[in-house]
Amino acid sequence: MSKNQIIARLEGDTPVVSVEFFPPKTEAGAEQILEAARALQGRDIAFASITCGAGGSTRGLTLEYGRLLREEFHFHVVPHVTCAGYSRRELEEMLDYLIEAKFPGFMALRGDPPKDSGGIFKHPPNGLAHASDLVALARERCRLRGVSAEDFSIGVAGYPGKHPESSDAAADMHWLAHKVAQGSDFITTQLFFDNAVYFDFVVRCREIGIKVPVLPGILPLPSIAQAHKFSAFSGVTIPVALMEKLESCGSDSEAAEKIGLEWAFSQISELLACGAPGFHLYILNRAKPALSLLSRLANR
Ligand code: FAD
Repeated sequence: MSKNQIIARLEGDTPVVSVEFFPPKTEAGAEQILEAARALQGRDIAFASITCGAGGSTRGLTLEYGRLLREEFHFHVVPHVTCAGYSRRELEEMLDYLIEAKFPGFMALRGDPPKDSGGIFKHPPNGLAHASDLVALARERCRLRGVSAEDFSIGVAGYPGKHPESSDAAADMHWLAHKVAQGSDFITTQLFFDNAVYFDFVVRCREIGIKVPVLPGILPLPSIAQAHKFSAFSGVTIPVALMEKLESCGSDSEAAEKIGLEWAFSQISELLACGAPGFHLYILNRAKPALSLLSRLANR
C-alpha cells in the first residue's frame, strides 16, 4: 500500500468503499467471515475494518482476523481498538504492534460497555476514558517510532443523530471536534437510514471547523427482526416507510432482504450524488448484499 493510501482515497475523486467485518466466535461464524472475505477479495474496497467486541471482549480475535484479512485476502485492514477493556500499557503495546507491523491505521473508539455493566461505561483502571485520549496516545506512539501521521491513518466514530450518552448535540459536536483535533484523519458515522440526518451532520461538522472526510455508515437491513435489534442497540431511528415495507414482507426473508438492499442503494446513490466521499458498509460478515450494491452502483 502506498503512503497514506486511505486518506489519498478519501480525498480522491473515486468514491471510497469500506467494509466492516466482526471477529467470529463460533466455527460456523469463522466459515462465514472467510467466505465473505473470499467473495469480496479483489473488489474495489479501499479498506476493511474489523470490530472489537464490547468491553474489549474479542481481544486477540480482532487482531488474528485482522492479520488474516490482510495476509490471505489482501485487504487494507484497519482494526478497531477500544479504550474499553484495556489498560494504557496494553493499548500502547497494541498500537506499537499495529504501527510496526505497518497496518495502514486503526479505528479509535471508546467502546461499548461490557454486557454485564448495565450499559454504563467505566474506564478501566490505568486506562483511557475517551476515544480522543486513544487518538492522542496513538499519535504519541507514532512520534516515538518516527512514523509520520501521514503513514498511519486514524478513523473515529461520529453520530449524526447524537451519541446516546450525550446531554445535547452541541456538546457531542464539541467532543467530536476535540477527537479530530487530537489527530484523527476521518470520521465513519453510525448507521443511519435517513440521508437528511447525515447531510445536516456534515454541515454542523464544517460549521465548527471539522474538515476531515465524513464517511457515511450504511447497513442494508436484512430483516424486520434485525431492524428492531439495531434500532434498540444503537438508538437510531428507522423511518416508518422502511419499517412498513419490511413488515409487509411477513416471513418472506428474501423479499425483506430485497427491500433492505433497495433502501441502501437509494441512500448510497443520493449520498454520492450529493458529494459524500464514499460509504462504509456494515456487512455483518455477509458478502452478498455488498456485492449486489457494488455491481448495481458500477452499472448505474
Ligand atoms: P467517545 O468519542 O469517547 O464519545 C463517547 C461519549 O463521551 C460521547 O457522548 C461524547 O460526546 C462524550 N465525550 C467524548 N470525549 C469527551 C470528553 N473529553 N469529556 C466528556 N465527554 C466526552 N464499539 C465497540 O465496542 N467496538 C467496536 O469495534 C466499535 N466500532 C464502532 C464503529 C463505528 C463506526 C461506530 C460509529 C461505533 C462503534 N462502536 C464500537 C460503538 C462505540 O464504541 C460506542 O458508540 C461508544 O459508546 C462511544 O464510542 P466513541 O469512540 O464514539 O466514544
